[in-house]
Amino acid sequence: MLSLNQLELIARQSIRSFSQRSILLQSAKPTYKTAKSLEEVSGSETLIGAGAKENTFPTDLEQATGLERLELLAKLEGVELFDTKPLDSSRVGTIADPILVESYDDYRYVGCTGSPADSHAVEWLKPTIENVARCWECGSVYKLKPVGVPQDDHHH
Ligand SMILES: [Zn+2]
Repeated sequence: MLSLNQLELIARQSIRSFSQRSILLQSAKPTYKTAKSLEEVSGSETLIGAGAKENTFPTDLEQATGLERLELLAKLEGVELFDTKPLDSSRVGTIADPILVESYDDYRYVGCTGSPADSHAVEWLKPTIENVARCWECGSVYKLKPVGVPQDDHHH
């Protein structure tokens, strides 16, 4: 099992290689095995989604690549990848004063357990750049705070 520090390192490598994703996908058969769990992640090469099987719609897990995949794998194992410190659970976020969540991407998965922490079973939410997320259980509002977004993203 990789430590969170190692995972964060891989995440940063993934950010750097993110813009090369399309090139990678065009190249011949991937020589790396796509990681299906955090344990199998050994670098950004192992984070290329296999894609959908023929005549099926791809699931998130099949389609997700790079950072998105790493975050998904982490989510599946209950690891909060980008927050080694717990989310702010000292209060319930409101629309006017939401809980800010830092993210390297334009969305993030957060697991809300209410305020105080563990008041309710974990509720997975996905605040994005466009939309805040509101917990169904406790109503807490989470707002994305982008950090270190790769500059390439703004020049398509
Ligand atoms: Zn909640």
